[in-house]
Amino acid sequence: MPELPEVETYARYFAAHALDQKIVRVEVRDERILGEIRKVAFVKRLKGRSFTSVRRHGKHLFVATSAKETWLHLHFGMSGDLAYYRHVEQEPRFARIVFGFAGGAQLAFEDMRLFGLAELVASPDAFIVDRKLGPDPLDPKFTLARFTALLEKRRGTIKSLLMSQEIIAGLGNLWVDETLYLSSIHPRRPVDRLKKEEIRTIFTSMRKLLRDVIARRERGAAMPARSLYENREIDARCPRCGGSIRRAVVFGRTTYFCATHQR
Ligand SMILES: [Zn+2]
Repeated sequence: MPELPEVETYARYFAAHALDQKIVRVEVRDERILGEIRKVAFVKRLKGRSFTSVRRHGKHLFVATSAKETWLHLHFGMSGDLAYYRHVEQEPRFARIVFGFAGGAQLAFEDMRLFGLAELVASPDAFIVDRKLGPDPLDPKFTLARFTALLEKRRGTIKSLLMSQEIIAGLGNLWVDETLYLSSIHPRRPVDRLKKEEIRTIFTSMRKLLRDVIARRERGAAMPARSLYENREIDARCPRCGGSIRRAVVFGRTTYFCATHQR
């Protein structure tokens, strides 16, 4: 399921391939991928325009167009992806929208399971406010002080708070588990019992992890053997401390953690 690092990779892919080319065709293959907007309006507003820049916030990708106050908003749901190609035979099987460019190339937004979304928004900033999305953890303006303030006076487990998009935008089940594993914090720790140093450790581990995952995806590298990611299995041996990896349901999600070093 695409989380922040995956969507960042899609944003970079979009920017590297599909900007500044005239959109000559917009084919909506499955209208269920569209939000509120009707197919006819979606096609009409993008045809003849071009994509000009990309912006990511959490798991949301926004692409500016040459039309005023018209941004393409993509959410990748459970199985969304992008494919840029020249030949029709390369079209992915579950292409839901295909943009054809003047030079002959195409960009497909694919989504097998159809939990994703494509729509047009007037402004990403307004969208973020409207949806009450928290800050993006890789935003240069996101600081430890801000993170600490977000967790203050909150109740609930650290896992549930890190998963809430209103607190912090972009993390999902997999990278929250990994962040807490790296921070040696148990996913069920009540957030109001975290010490200052522990909050600092979570903040630092989270940002370092996200940057590392993005860099690994860019060069097609696997996660380290010592990561929780590579050891998400009941009774696997923890590569950090030799303890046992356990599975539990926290905040309604299957959670893996080390019962020994995560406290
Ligand atoms: Zn351990």
